[in-house]
Amino acid sequence: MSTEIRIVGASVVPHPGAVLAHAEIALSPSSGLITYLGPIRGPAGPVDVDARDRIVAPGLVNAHTHAAMTLLRGHSDDVPLREWLTAIRAFELRMTFEDIRAGLGLAMVEMIRSGTIGFVDMHLWDGTLLADVCAAGMRVRAAPAVFGYDAVAYPGATPETGAQVLDRTPDLAAEFAGEDLVRVSYGPHAPYSCGPGLLGDVASRAAVNGLGVHIHLSETRAEVDESIDRHGISPIALAGRLGLFALRTHVAHAVHPRPGDHQLLAAPGITVSHNPISNLKLGAGIAPIADYRTAGVALALGSDSVASNNAADLFQEIKIGTLLQRGAHHDPGVQSGLEALAMATSGGAAALADRLPGRLGVGEPADLVMVDTTAPSATPMTDPRSFLAFAATGADVTDVFIAGRRVLEDRRLTTLDEQAIRADVGERVRRIRTELGLPLFG
Ligand SMILES: [Zn+2]
Repeated sequence: MSTEIRIVGASVVPHPGAVLAHAEIALSPSSGLITYLGPIRGPAGPVDVDARDRIVAPGLVNAHTHAAMTLLRGHSDDVPLREWLTAIRAFELRMTFEDIRAGLGLAMVEMIRSGTIGFVDMHLWDGTLLADVCAAGMRVRAAPAVFGYDAVAYPGATPETGAQVLDRTPDLAAEFAGEDLVRVSYGPHAPYSCGPGLLGDVASRAAVNGLGVHIHLSETRAEVDESIDRHGISPIALAGRLGLFALRTHVAHAVHPRPGDHQLLAAPGITVSHNPISNLKLGAGIAPIADYRTAGVALALGSDSVASNNAADLFQEIKIGTLLQRGAHHDPGVQSGLEALAMATSGGAAALADRLPGRLGVGEPADLVMVDTTAPSATPMTDPRSFLAFAATGADVTDVFIAGRRVLEDRRLTTLDEQAIRADVGERVRRIRTELGLPLFG
């Protein structure tokens, strides 16, 4: 039996700076690593993958999401953030543990299908849910969400308070310490929900336990103004003062930095997820991504939850994120498609896990996607990277390998039962919307 899978004949984009035409890339399912990348070595064998009509590229990373919230897709589409949070909360209060689990399952179906190999997430996380991610074969950096010491975040699922979540977060990390696919971080939601005392406590705990932190910062102008009124400084500066930037902290949004915030976010180990569609949908604003790049901030791309998106297709973020910067700056040179691809691959990988490169090379993890090039939107194939940055969608993805495991094979999921998951989610959403007195369609 072959110890290698050879993917033969594709245009391989090992990173946004290069294209190898008519190339071969091989991987070892047992080690999960790439074993060869270069010209086609010889006649393809019967077990090899014919990839003549495919681009092979690094897998995409969703650097900020709340995956389980797929059940809230289309719930409260047209209101600003604070009002939206209230509407979302009413729904979330009714979600049982199994509802959350079903939502996570649907999110993984959607993410794998659209070429995402891993996600950085903040929500309810425990051993059962992390085991589900491992069984699906995805990578995750999971942050059990905390909204205050006494706040019960998901009362329909668990009575545990924020204090209890903080106490068990290192235990969850220890439980999955030997699992290469999983990282666990602390998940204080935001300064305005948690307060400075809790954030300082998290910084101390994270330093002691060697864990990272995932937090929302400076998403809206109102949040920044409120922080300045209350604490005299921006949410980003407050997080810095409380010690969060001496850690491996991952920041979601950072739409409205104040002077000096850019430099704080450029500290070593800090990563920032830009979530352009979520920021647009909630009317939060446009993050100064070009300024962050100049300041040396490590940038990634995220969808945020589908409740504020309403999809989890990183190709949309790549395109819209780039166009948004160009429109805001009146300058098509302010962000290239290649820079956006780097944010979605190597940038996201840096946010997901230490030493994960997000690029294809011999000896690196076999986290890769295959993208169909036979669609009209892929014709003519002037440059595969141009297609990936500006024309491709998640629907063009045919195959996904994560750590050498083929989790999507010719558009068929190998680790998740898509039909069953979709039917289950439909039932659950019908129940909750009925309880809330909301209309049902279909
Ligand atoms: Zn978020």
